[in-house]
Amino acid sequence: MNEESGMGEFGLIEWIRRRAAGGVDGLALGIGDDCAVVDFQGAQVLVTADMLMDGRHFRLAEDGPEAVGRKAMGVNLSDVAAMAGVPRFAVVAVALPRGAAVEVAKGLHEGMRRMADRFGVSLIGGDTNAWDGPLVISVTLMGTATEHGVRKRSDAKVGDAIFVTGPLGGSFFRGRHLRPEPRVVEALALADAVPLHAMIDLSDGLSSDLGHILEESGGLGAVLDASVVPIHADAHAHSLADGVSPIVHALNDGEDFELCFTAPPDAADALSATPPDGVRLHRIGVIVESPGLLLRGTDGRTTPIEARGFDHMKGPSPR
Ligand code: ADP
Ligand code: MG
Repeated sequence: MNEESGMGEFGLIEWIRRRAAGGVDGLALGIGDDCAVVDFQGAQVLVTADMLMDGRHFRLAEDGPEAVGRKAMGVNLSDVAAMAGVPRFAVVAVALPRGAAVEVAKGLHEGMRRMADRFGVSLIGGDTNAWDGPLVISVTLMGTATEHGVRKRSDAKVGDAIFVTGPLGGSFFRGRHLRPEPRVVEALALADAVPLHAMIDLSDGLSSDLGHILEESGGLGAVLDASVVPIHADAHAHSLADGVSPIVHALNDGEDFELCFTAPPDAADALSATPPDGVRLHRIGVIVESPGLLLRGTDGRTTPIEARGFDHMKGPSPR
């Protein structure tokens, strides 16, 4: 696999997915969602893994190992949140830069442990290596489903309202990407309140991540209202620096780690009227039958949005 093949990260994952065994005994949900779901003697267990690399997802020299540990745990917690699951156990594998290996490992551990403690996660194992390369850390997180089941990317329906749980964009500009606030509690409260349809966490950027929901839900479309897409102060700050409009940052930057979900009109109205305690909600658009993503401006005109979120096989490092 090389970048010239033009396959892209998502094309590659699709390639792997087509070759993965189907109909595996005990597999409730395979490749293609924020977590896999396996059925262990009647209990639904969620599994996810995310790897972070120095120079790609963080800069160790500037950010320090504790921030890296916090992010490594946080991004995985966010994937469990995206399923409306309860995170439980973590396994951590590290490739430490030789020379400062012990100091880095201790810092990483502190950052991970604090984040894990906040969300009731136990660190139960892992693997430690040192080499002459940069720091790489991979966290595998396991969780459980609640009585409401898991929320998949593939359950959006025409007419659903689309929500996000917080302001978007500019997360790389001032280092917010290092401090993800996984919406675990919020996801559980939402799933408790109403029958949600599709859900994903915003790691690649709204245009890409909502695009995954649309694709997985059978090739649907969405119309977003530019005036109500919540734009983070970091997106405005970034916009002043690079001249790219704040809404473009909000749609594409990624690593906001907010939730994006869809809900049928009745449930959406109930949520809008009475959001669960402590949950911020922005109703930003609607799912439509015609494929593609459209942005409706204040003048009522719609323009297509190209999914320009982050793709590991294509993009230069945003850091
Ligand atoms: P997320 O952004 O939520 O972490 P990804 O875009 O990384 O999700 O991955 C999308 C899906 O592809 C997930 O179901 C993930 O488990 C799966 N996946 C990613 N890389 C691989 C791989 N190398 N082999 C098998 N499955 C993979
Ligand atoms: Mg995800």
